[in-house]
Amino acid sequence: MCGIVGYLGLKDAREIIINGLKRLEYRGYDSAGIALKDCDSNHFSVFKDKGRVAHLESITDYTFQSCLGIGHTRWATHGEPNQVNSHPHNSAKGRFFVVHNGVIDNYKELKSTKLKETVFESDTDTEVIAHLIERYSYKMSVSEAIRKTMSLLEGSYALAIIDTEDPNHLYACKNKSPLLLGINDDGIIIASDVMACVGYSTQYVPLEDKTFVEIDGASYTIKDIIGKEVPHEIKTIDIDYFNIEKGEYSHFMLKEINEQPAVIRTIINEYFDGDKVILNGKTSEAIAMSDRLYIIAAGTSMNAGFIGRELFEKMANIPCEVHIASEFAYNMPLLSKKPLFIFISQSGETADLRAGLVNIKAKGYRSLTITNVKTSTLAREADNFVEIHAGPEIAVASTKAYTAQIVILAILAYGLSDKHIDLRKELSKVAISIENIIDKKDYIEQLVKEYLTKRNCFYIGRGIDYYSCLEASLKLKEISYIQTEGFAAGELKHGTIALIEKDTPVIAIISQRSINKNTRSNLNEVKSRGAKTLIISTRSIHESDDQIVIDDVFELFSPLLTVIPAQFIAYYAALERGYDIDKPRNLAKSVTVE
Ligand code: GLU
Repeated sequence: MCGIVGYLGLKDAREIIINGLKRLEYRGYDSAGIALKDCDSNHFSVFKDKGRVAHLESITDYTFQSCLGIGHTRWATHGEPNQVNSHPHNSAKGRFFVVHNGVIDNYKELKSTKLKETVFESDTDTEVIAHLIERYSYKMSVSEAIRKTMSLLEGSYALAIIDTEDPNHLYACKNKSPLLLGINDDGIIIASDVMACVGYSTQYVPLEDKTFVEIDGASYTIKDIIGKEVPHEIKTIDIDYFNIEKGEYSHFMLKEINEQPAVIRTIINEYFDGDKVILNGKTSEAIAMSDRLYIIAAGTSMNAGFIGRELFEKMANIPCEVHIASEFAYNMPLLSKKPLFIFISQSGETADLRAGLVNIKAKGYRSLTITNVKTSTLAREADNFVEIHAGPEIAVASTKAYTAQIVILAILAYGLSDKHIDLRKELSKVAISIENIIDKKDYIEQLVKEYLTKRNCFYIGRGIDYYSCLEASLKLKEISYIQTEGFAAGELKHGTIALIEKDTPVIAIISQRSINKNTRSNLNEVKSRGAKTLIISTRSIHESDDQIVIDDVFELFSPLLTVIPAQFIAYYAALERGYDIDKPRNLAKSVTVE
C-alpha cells in the first residue's frame, strides 16, 4: 500500500522523487527510502530509515547531481517498520535495487524453492524479487529476467527496478497494485499515483496489469509478460498544483472539510443542465434494469454506501444491500436475478473492491464504480463509472470524498425516484447549510474540550442517523484514537450500555422527526447511568438544550449535514491531543493490499 516514485531523465532525480514521495505519503508512512545514482560516477547511494519522508529528506546526504533514482514510502505488510525492512531492497550481489508496493503471496515458497542458498537481510516479502531478478540476469537479458520473475510472483506488485550495471535504463512492472508513467521530453517518472507527477509531467500513461516497462532516457517501451509490445493510451494530467497544497490551512483535513460546499457546487455543475440531471444514459439504464443493487465498499465509502442504500430504497424503491468489500470478494451472498454491483472507492484502487469486481465480472454481471479518480483501476474496469469530482483528497481521514459520494448516490437514486423534489435546489441548500456549520467551528472546538475528555465515546442514532453515527465514530477513532462506537440507539440497552460510566461521552445524531422521541429516550437511559450527552439535531425538532443545531434540509439529505460537526469533533479532538491529523498512525489512505 506504499508509494513508489522513480525517475530517469535530465532533471534532479532526488528532488522529483522526494517531492513525489511527500505527495504519496497518504499511501503509507511507516518508513521511506531512496536509491540515487551519481551522474558523474557509477556510484549509487541508498538512504532509508523508519519514519516519514521528511526524515528521509533530512538523512539524504546529497552533494552529487543525480538523474536516476527510485524511492518508496512504506506501509509495512511483512516485517516491522525499521531501517532494514525499508525499501529499496538490494539483490545478493548488489546489482539490482527494487521498490515494491503490494504483497507477494508465495514469497515463502519462492525462498524455499528458488532461493535456497540466498541469505536474506530483511523480513519483507519484497526481497525475493531483487534476488530472483539477479539470479535470472546471469542467464538472460535484464528485461527477460524481470519478466521471468514476474511470471513466478503470485500476489500484487508495482515495482521500480534499477540495474546498477546499466544506469541508462529504468524498469517497472505491475500486477494489481497501481503504477503509471509521467512522461516529458526531458525524463520519465514512474509513480503509484499521478499526484507525484504534477508540476513535472503534463501527460501520463496508466499501466495495465502484468505489463512491463523499459525506460530508456525519454523513451519507453511497454510489453506484456512474454515480451510482446502492448498498445497504451497517453492521458493529460489535469490536476491543479494548488489543489494538492495546504494553502492557508494548518491541515489538509481542515482544508478538505471547508471545501465541501464547493465540492457540492462542482457536482451540481457537472451533473445538471438547468434543473435536469445529466448522467451517462448507460449508468441510469443499468440501475433501472436491475432488480437489486449491491453496494460493495470499505471504510468511509461503505458508510456512504449505507446512506446510499437508504436513498435507493426510500427515493427510488430499488432494493439495495451493502457489503464489506473484503467479505464480499470471497463469500458472495445469494444474488438476485438481475443484480447491479456498485463499487464505491475514493481512490478507485482499493484492493478488496478490485477482488470483488474481478469475481463478478468473471460471472458476467454488470458493474458501476463511483470514485474520485477517473483514471483508476476500478473506474477503468467496471462497465460504467461516475466521478465524484471531490478534487484531490490528501488527508488520510476522508471528509469531502464521503459527502461527494453521498451526493452522487442521491443523484443516481433521484433519477429513478417518484419523489417530486427540486434536487438542484435541495443540494444547493445543503451547501449553504454546510457553510453555516463551518461558521460555528470555534464553538464546536469548545464543546470538544468540554465533552471529549475520556478514552472512549459513543455516537448513537436511529434510522439514517445510525449510519451517520458509523461514519462519525470512524472519523473520531481514526484520528483522535478515542475508542468510539457508532451504535443504533435502541440497541445500546441490549448489552453495550454496560460500558457507560460516569462522564462517558455519548453523542446523539437526531435529524429525523419519526425517531426523534425514541432517540431522546435512549439518551435519557444513558444519562441516568452517568453519561455526558451531546446532541446534534435539526432545527425543526431540536430542544432548547441541544448543543449543535443544524438547518433543516430534505430529510434524506440530512447525513450530508450531520457529518460536518462530527468531522470537526474528530479534528479538534485530535488537535487537542497533539496527534498527526493528516497522517494518523497505522493507516494509509489508498488500501491497495487485500
Ligand atoms: N510488502 C512490502 C513490505 O512489507 C511492501 C508493502 C507496501 O506496499 O508498502 O515491505
